[in-house]
Amino acid sequence: MTTATQANTASDSAREIAVTAHDLPLHCPRPDAPLWARHPRVFLDVLKNAAGEAVCPYCGTTYRFTGEKPKGHH
Ligand SMILES: [Zn+2]
Repeated sequence: MTTATQANTASDSAREIAVTAHDLPLHCPRPDAPLWARHPRVFLDVLKNAAGEAVCPYCGTTYRFTGEKPKGHH
């Protein structure tokens, strides 16, 4: 379903966003997400798999962790 009320340049359905330790805990949508990408907030654990990737179940955005992993606090 298309509820877009304004033209935008987001023609790509598969978006990929690089995240760093600074962005953790990662949740989607991001604070700067466009209105059309808004959905209930969901937390994504990009560090859970070896590839450092997490796909948002709502909007399909792929988040890829990049850079230095945060130091564990234990
Ligand atoms: Zn999302």
